[in-house]
Amino acid sequence: MAEFSIIDTYFNRPTSASVDLGVGDDSALLTPPPQQQLVICADTLVAGRHFPLDTNPHAIGWKSVAVNLSDLAAMGATPHSILLALSLPQIDHDWLKAFSQGLYDCCDQFGVSLIGGDTTQSPHLTITVTALGWVETGKAVPRTGAKVGDLICVSGTIGDAAFALQNLGHPLQKRLDYPTPRCQLGTTLKGLANSMIDVSDGLAQDLGHILKGSDVGATLELEKLPLSPALQDLNHEKQWQYALAGGDDYELCFTISPQHYAQLLEQQPDINITRIGTITENKTLSFQYYGDEVMLNLNGYQHFA
Ligand code: ADP
Ligand code: MG
Repeated sequence: MAEFSIIDTYFNRPTSASVDLGVGDDSALLTPPPQQQLVICADTLVAGRHFPLDTNPHAIGWKSVAVNLSDLAAMGATPHSILLALSLPQIDHDWLKAFSQGLYDCCDQFGVSLIGGDTTQSPHLTITVTALGWVETGKAVPRTGAKVGDLICVSGTIGDAAFALQNLGHPLQKRLDYPTPRCQLGTTLKGLANSMIDVSDGLAQDLGHILKGSDVGATLELEKLPLSPALQDLNHEKQWQYALAGGDDYELCFTISPQHYAQLLEQQPDINITRIGTITENKTLSFQYYGDEVMLNLNGYQHFA
């Protein structure tokens, strides 16, 4: 009985008119828009591993949605709905109230409906969100499309969340707790970018996925990395570690031809875009600082390290 009252109390708000059937039956029902592909992804947050145990539950709710919308954005998809699989050690109404509010705040900001899920008891607080979105058939932006000569770009600033994790209480903690998925930029880049990924495990590692998938290399110009003022005050070694190997940025990294880059800037995206490098033929990732080669020892986030 407790399970149903939790669902009804916290996770059964009205959905958008484009949902045929949401929470309450054995499954939800959606009608796919004509000529669109379903884009679908899931991400799990485990307490103590992906966020400190005492993290504000409102932020946990927000972030569990945001990280998934970021994956949809990285395909160029328009987000539509989510499912929530929640494993709770105990029923804590204050926690559930704040968590569900954070989750719905993120959903509302991006026009997304919660349409179903599962609720279970387990010793570890675990949150899995599955997100669904739509993209015109054949228009999704893959990791595999980077071309030699493409410009490498990134949205916003990078390294903020990794910096905040080491400096809890700093104003940049907002970037760690409440990441902003770049949904609008993602859809703008559909038809413009050749390849795209969202930066969740560190820029160097995530760009590495594009390079491997596209069978190309890259040169990054370290002086161009977009850094918040707090990171600009650090020495280069620290700046570059946070910006290139820190995780949890949820910015978009994409490669784009110079012509399409000019078109993108004309469209005045809602978030700052910085050109940080170029796609090259030799299949390595190299770093330069004002034209001089720099050797860096970096590691992105390793789940099974
Ligand atoms: P079943 O036993 O058929 O799997 P459940 O009892 O698990 O059904 O869920 C009942 C309804 O509540 C379903 O529509 C399911 O999608 C929804 N639901 C369960 N848990 C959640 C949750 N945490 N958030 C949103 N919807 C949920
Ligand atoms: Mg069930």
